[in-house]
Amino acid sequence: MSKSPEELAARQALAEVSRLCYQRGYITGTEGNFSIRLDKNRILTTPRGVCKGRINEADLVITDADGTPADPHVALPSTELKMHLAAYRLRDDISAVVHAHPTVAVGFTVAGVSLSTPALPEVVCTIGTIPVSPYATPSTDEVVQSIEPYVKKCDALMLDHHGALCLGKDIWDAFYKLETVEHQAQTLLVAHMLGGPKPLTKEQVASLLNVRSVYGLTNEVDVDYLTAAASGNSD
Ligand SMILES: [Zn+2]
Repeated sequence: MSKSPEELAARQALAEVSRLCYQRGYITGTEGNFSIRLDKNRILTTPRGVCKGRINEADLVITDADGTPADPHVALPSTELKMHLAAYRLRDDISAVVHAHPTVAVGFTVAGVSLSTPALPEVVCTIGTIPVSPYATPSTDEVVQSIEPYVKKCDALMLDHHGALCLGKDIWDAFYKLETVEHQAQTLLVAHMLGGPKPLTKEQVASLLNVRSVYGLTNEVDVDYLTAAASGNSD
Protein backbone atom coordinates (compact mmCIF):
# COMPACT_ATOMS: atom_id res chain seq x y z
CA MET A 1 0.00 0.00 0.00
CA SER A 2 1.40 3.42 -0.90
CA LYS A 3 2.08 5.83 1.92
CA SER A 4 0.39 9.23 2.23
CA PRO A 5 2.47 12.42 1.84
CA GLU A 6 1.83 13.08 5.56
CA GLU A 7 3.24 9.70 6.57
CA LEU A 8 6.26 10.11 4.27
CA ALA A 9 6.98 13.54 5.81
CA ALA A 10 6.60 12.12 9.32
CA ARG A 11 8.98 9.26 8.51
CA GLN A 12 11.56 11.70 7.16
CA ALA A 13 11.35 13.98 10.23
CA LEU A 14 11.42 11.09 12.73
CA ALA A 15 14.48 9.50 11.10
CA GLU A 16 16.23 12.89 11.00
CA VAL A 17 15.54 13.61 14.69
CA SER A 18 16.73 10.09 15.61
CA ARG A 19 20.03 10.61 13.78
CA LEU A 20 20.45 14.11 15.27
CA CYS A 21 19.98 12.78 18.82
CA TYR A 22 22.77 10.26 18.21
CA GLN A 23 25.07 12.82 16.58
CA ARG A 24 24.53 15.27 19.44
CA GLY A 25 25.35 12.62 22.04
CA TYR A 26 21.88 12.42 23.58
CA ILE A 27 21.93 8.62 23.06
CA THR A 28 24.60 5.97 22.50
CA GLY A 29 24.53 2.48 21.01
CA THR A 30 20.94 1.37 20.41
CA GLU A 31 19.47 3.63 23.12
CA GLY A 32 16.58 6.07 22.79
CA ASN A 33 13.15 5.91 21.23
CA PHE A 34 11.11 8.45 19.31
CA SER A 35 7.55 8.57 18.04
CA ILE A 36 4.93 10.55 16.17
CA ARG A 37 1.16 10.12 16.53
CA LEU A 38 -0.05 9.96 12.92
CA ASP A 39 -3.69 9.74 13.95
CA LYS A 40 -5.83 8.45 16.82
CA ASN A 41 -4.80 4.82 16.36
CA ARG A 42 -1.50 4.95 14.42
CA ILE A 43 1.86 5.60 16.05
CA LEU A 44 5.04 5.83 13.97
CA THR A 45 8.06 4.86 16.05
CA THR A 46 11.67 3.70 16.08
CA PRO A 47 12.47 -0.05 16.03
CA ARG A 48 13.91 -2.03 18.94
CA GLY A 49 17.65 -2.77 19.13
CA VAL A 50 18.77 -0.55 16.25
CA CYS A 51 21.30 2.30 16.40
CA LYS A 52 19.25 5.46 15.88
CA GLY A 53 22.29 7.19 14.39
CA ARG A 54 22.02 4.97 11.31
CA ILE A 55 18.27 4.82 10.90
CA ASN A 56 16.31 5.45 7.70
CA GLU A 57 12.67 6.24 6.95
CA ALA A 58 11.94 2.64 5.90
CA ASP A 59 13.22 1.24 9.25
CA LEU A 60 10.41 2.86 11.25
CA VAL A 61 7.52 0.87 12.70
CA ILE A 62 3.78 1.60 12.84
CA THR A 63 1.76 0.40 15.84
CA ASP A 64 -1.76 0.96 17.12
CA ALA A 65 -2.52 3.01 20.27
CA ASP A 66 -1.74 -0.08 22.41
CA GLY A 67 1.66 -0.65 20.81
CA THR A 68 0.76 -3.65 18.65
CA PRO A 69 2.75 -3.49 15.40
CA ALA A 70 0.70 -3.20 12.20
CA ASP A 71 3.04 -5.76 10.61
CA PRO A 72 4.61 -8.16 13.15
CA HIS A 73 6.89 -9.57 10.45
CA VAL A 74 8.78 -6.30 10.20
CA ALA A 75 10.72 -4.84 13.18
CA LEU A 76 9.33 -4.61 16.72
CA PRO A 77 8.94 -1.26 18.51
CA SER A 78 11.00 -0.36 21.58
CA THR A 79 10.03 -1.90 24.90
CA GLU A 80 9.93 1.71 26.18
CA LEU A 81 7.15 2.66 23.74
CA LYS A 82 4.66 2.27 26.60
CA MET A 83 5.90 5.63 27.99
CA HIS A 84 5.00 7.31 24.69
CA LEU A 85 1.60 5.60 24.59
CA ALA A 86 0.85 6.81 28.12
CA ALA A 87 1.74 10.37 27.10
CA TYR A 88 -0.57 10.19 24.06
CA ARG A 89 -3.35 8.74 26.19
CA LEU A 90 -3.04 11.53 28.76
CA ARG A 91 -2.42 14.46 26.42
CA ASP A 92 -4.61 15.24 23.42
CA ASP A 93 -2.50 18.31 22.69
CA ILE A 94 0.75 16.48 21.82
CA SER A 95 1.69 14.55 18.69
CA ALA A 96 5.31 13.56 19.31
CA VAL A 97 7.52 12.12 22.07
CA VAL A 98 11.29 11.83 22.35
CA HIS A 99 13.07 9.71 24.95
CA ALA A 100 16.88 9.95 25.20
CA HIS A 101 19.69 9.67 27.76
CA PRO A 102 21.45 13.08 27.62
CA THR A 103 24.61 12.71 29.70
CA VAL A 104 24.71 15.92 31.72
CA ALA A 105 20.99 16.07 32.48
CA VAL A 106 20.98 12.41 33.56
CA GLY A 107 24.09 13.15 35.67
CA PHE A 108 22.04 15.71 37.63
CA THR A 109 19.50 12.99 38.54
CA VAL A 110 22.31 10.57 39.48
CA ALA A 111 23.75 13.24 41.78
CA GLY A 112 20.31 14.22 43.08
CA VAL A 113 20.80 17.88 42.07
CA SER A 114 17.84 19.97 40.82
CA LEU A 115 17.66 20.91 37.14
CA SER A 116 14.87 23.38 37.80
CA THR A 117 16.92 26.29 39.16
CA PRO A 118 15.64 29.40 37.34
CA ALA A 119 18.88 30.27 35.58
CA LEU A 120 18.11 30.87 31.90
CA PRO A 121 15.26 33.12 30.65
CA GLU A 122 14.30 30.86 27.72
CA VAL A 123 14.00 27.84 30.01
CA VAL A 124 11.75 29.68 32.48
CA CYS A 125 9.63 30.90 29.54
CA THR A 126 9.36 27.68 27.59
CA ILE A 127 9.41 24.63 29.84
CA GLY A 128 9.43 26.26 33.28
CA THR A 129 10.67 23.52 35.59
CA ILE A 130 12.23 20.13 34.79
CA PRO A 131 10.83 17.69 37.36
CA VAL A 132 12.29 14.24 38.06
CA SER A 133 9.96 11.22 38.19
CA PRO A 134 10.87 8.55 40.80
CA TYR A 135 13.21 5.75 39.75
CA ALA A 136 11.52 2.79 38.05
CA THR A 137 12.92 -0.23 36.22
CA PRO A 138 13.20 0.73 32.53
CA SER A 139 10.73 -0.88 30.09
CA THR A 140 8.32 -1.96 32.86
CA ASP A 141 4.84 -0.70 33.74
CA GLU A 142 6.46 0.87 36.83
CA VAL A 143 7.89 3.52 34.52
CA VAL A 144 4.46 4.38 33.18
CA GLN A 145 3.10 4.78 36.73
CA SER A 146 6.08 6.92 37.74
CA ILE A 147 5.75 9.37 34.84
CA GLU A 148 1.97 9.76 34.65
CA PRO A 149 1.54 12.58 37.21
CA TYR A 150 4.29 14.61 35.49
CA VAL A 151 3.27 13.93 31.89
CA LYS A 152 -0.20 15.34 32.66
CA LYS A 153 1.22 18.82 33.25
CA CYS A 154 4.83 18.95 31.96
CA ASP A 155 6.33 18.91 28.48
CA ALA A 156 9.83 17.98 29.69
CA LEU A 157 10.81 15.74 32.58
CA MET A 158 13.67 13.58 33.76
CA LEU A 159 13.38 9.91 34.74
CA ASP A 160 15.54 9.39 37.81
CA HIS A 161 18.87 7.65 37.02
CA HIS A 162 17.66 7.03 33.47
CA GLY A 163 16.84 9.70 30.89
CA ALA A 164 14.71 12.53 29.57
CA LEU A 165 11.17 12.46 28.20
CA CYS A 166 9.98 15.42 26.11
CA LEU A 167 6.59 15.96 24.51
CA GLY A 168 5.72 18.26 21.63
CA LYS A 169 3.06 19.36 19.20
CA ASP A 170 5.36 17.87 16.55
CA ILE A 171 8.64 15.95 16.55
CA TRP A 172 10.79 19.06 16.18
CA ASP A 173 9.03 20.77 19.08
CA ALA A 174 9.78 17.71 21.26
CA PHE A 175 13.40 17.58 20.04
CA TYR A 176 13.98 21.29 20.79
CA LYS A 177 12.73 20.72 24.35
CA LEU A 178 15.24 17.88 24.74
CA GLU A 179 17.98 20.23 23.53
CA THR A 180 16.80 22.88 26.01
CA VAL A 181 16.93 20.38 28.91
CA GLU A 182 20.51 19.33 28.10
CA HIS A 183 21.57 22.96 27.52
CA GLN A 184 20.15 23.94 30.94
CA ALA A 185 22.04 21.00 32.49
CA GLN A 186 25.33 21.95 30.83
CA THR A 187 24.96 25.58 31.87
CA LEU A 188 24.12 24.67 35.47
CA LEU A 189 27.05 22.23 35.56
CA VAL A 190 29.44 25.02 34.59
CA ALA A 191 27.83 27.29 37.19
CA HIS A 192 28.26 24.59 39.87
CA MET A 193 31.96 24.26 38.91
CA LEU A 194 32.38 28.03 39.20
CA GLY A 195 31.06 28.31 42.72
CA GLY A 196 27.35 27.53 42.37
CA PRO A 197 24.41 28.95 40.37
CA LYS A 198 23.02 32.36 41.25
CA PRO A 199 19.35 32.02 40.28
CA LEU A 200 17.35 34.76 38.57
CA THR A 201 15.58 37.02 41.08
CA LYS A 202 11.88 36.74 41.96
CA GLU A 203 11.18 39.92 39.96
CA GLN A 204 13.01 38.55 36.91
CA VAL A 205 11.14 35.24 37.12
CA ALA A 206 7.80 37.06 37.53
CA SER A 207 8.34 39.23 34.45
CA LEU A 208 9.46 36.21 32.38
CA LEU A 209 6.29 34.37 33.35
CA ASN A 210 4.30 37.45 32.31
CA VAL A 211 5.74 37.50 28.78
CA ARG A 212 4.99 33.82 28.12
CA SER A 213 1.57 34.65 26.69
CA VAL A 214 3.18 37.06 24.20
CA TYR A 215 4.89 34.03 22.65
CA GLY A 216 1.71 31.96 22.73
CA LEU A 217 3.07 29.63 25.42
CA THR A 218 0.19 28.08 27.29
CA ASN A 219 1.66 24.91 28.86
CA GLU A 220 1.45 24.85 32.64
CA VAL A 221 4.58 25.86 34.60
CA ASP A 222 5.24 25.43 38.30
CA VAL A 223 5.12 29.09 39.31
CA ASP A 224 5.35 28.32 43.05
CA TYR A 225 8.55 26.29 42.59
CA LEU A 226 10.18 28.86 40.32
CA THR A 227 9.33 31.68 42.70
CA ALA A 228 10.62 29.73 45.71
CA ALA A 229 13.85 28.78 43.89
CA ALA A 230 14.51 32.33 42.66
CA SER A 231 17.31 34.38 44.16
CA GLY A 232 16.97 34.89 47.90
CA ASN A 233 15.67 31.35 48.57
CA SER A 234 17.45 28.04 48.73
CA ASP A 235 16.82 25.64 45.80
ZN1 LIG B 1 15.59 4.85 28.28
